[in-house]
Amino acid sequence: MTQTTQPSTPPKRKRVPKTAVVLRTSLLSPQMVRVVFTGDDLLTLPDLTFTDHYIKILFPPDGADYAWPFDPDAIRDSQPAERWPVTRTYTIRQFDRAANEMAVDFVVHGDEGLAGPWAARSRPGDVIGFLGPGGAYVPDEEADSHLLVGDEAAIPAIAATLERLPADARAEVFLEVAGPEHHQPLRMPVNTSLHWVHRSESGLGYGQALSAAVRGGDLPGGRLQAFVHGNAEMVRDLRRYLFVEHRVDRRQVSISGYWRTGHTEDRWQATKGEFNQQMEAEEASGV
Ligand SMILES: Cc1cc2nc3c(=O)[nH]c(=O)nc-3n(C[C@H](O)[C@H](O)[C@H](O)COP(=O)(O)OP(=O)(O)OC[C@H]3O[C@@H](n4cnc5c(N)ncnc54)[C@H](O)[C@@H]3O)c2cc1C
Repeated sequence: MTQTTQPSTPPKRKRVPKTAVVLRTSLLSPQMVRVVFTGDDLLTLPDLTFTDHYIKILFPPDGADYAWPFDPDAIRDSQPAERWPVTRTYTIRQFDRAANEMAVDFVVHGDEGLAGPWAARSRPGDVIGFLGPGGAYVPDEEADSHLLVGDEAAIPAIAATLERLPADARAEVFLEVAGPEHHQPLRMPVNTSLHWVHRSESGLGYGQALSAAVRGGDLPGGRLQAFVHGNAEMVRDLRRYLFVEHRVDRRQVSISGYWRTGHTEDRWQATKGEFNQQMEAEEASGV
């Protein structure tokens, strides 16, 4: 009898969640809450080299019989899928290692969802578990110009980017919010133009006025680096604008849907691969 050796699959790396404790909260705008976290686990965070560093906050689903702290992998191994913890992705807006404080800015988009309502009612002493950080984008100091585009969900990453841009960097910044009362103070290098886009005045759906504003503006010249994130439909349109209509080098562009209208994050993450494939096929065919 011949014995066949099965290729061994590497053991799954155990995910070790960290605990963060709410230190204080503040309202940055009528729909944006800053939650500042602290706690011993934050001391173990690596240096945050990117400006889009994000964490995945773990929430027990509605009706779960457990609360933080819990082991997400053990729950996945022992409970049916509907009871697994769900994750919500958030940018680390600031991390002050000396003070051991991590700020995360949450869009409060009504009563729907887990993370938005959690942030709205969070109080000092509340605890969450999170995985990460991940991240991939940092402004390229060699770029001739920058294009930064996002809705409220991407303002934390864009605000962190503006704080990291060289003082003489040339940048066009387009930010969509509901209206003028939702503006936030941002560090603006001298050669930067900031365009606030107001959804409520446009009467359009999420991201549509933002796409139109970017299309109606000047694409900065030279070697361009772009960061475009937020509503998935806006991203679909601006990918076409950048990659098909302007042939911008894909390696110089960070672009993805952070969320999708009518989809919870779980549903969006589960369908994002298909959405992206379809989008890439449309781009390839020039449709
Ligand atoms: C890498 C990355 C970084 C992100 N960083 C941030 C960040 O720093 N701050 C932040 O607020 N968000 C950020 N997001 C987006 C955030 O993860 C999603 O908006 C998430 O769906 C919010 O979870 P929820 O539990 O509040 O709502 P969910 O339960 O996921 O969704 C409930 C309903 O609310 C809608 N919804 C979700 N988000 C929004 C929104 N922003 N505006 C209007 N309606 C919405 C959904 O379409 C759905 O209908 C980031 C996403 C990614 C991938």
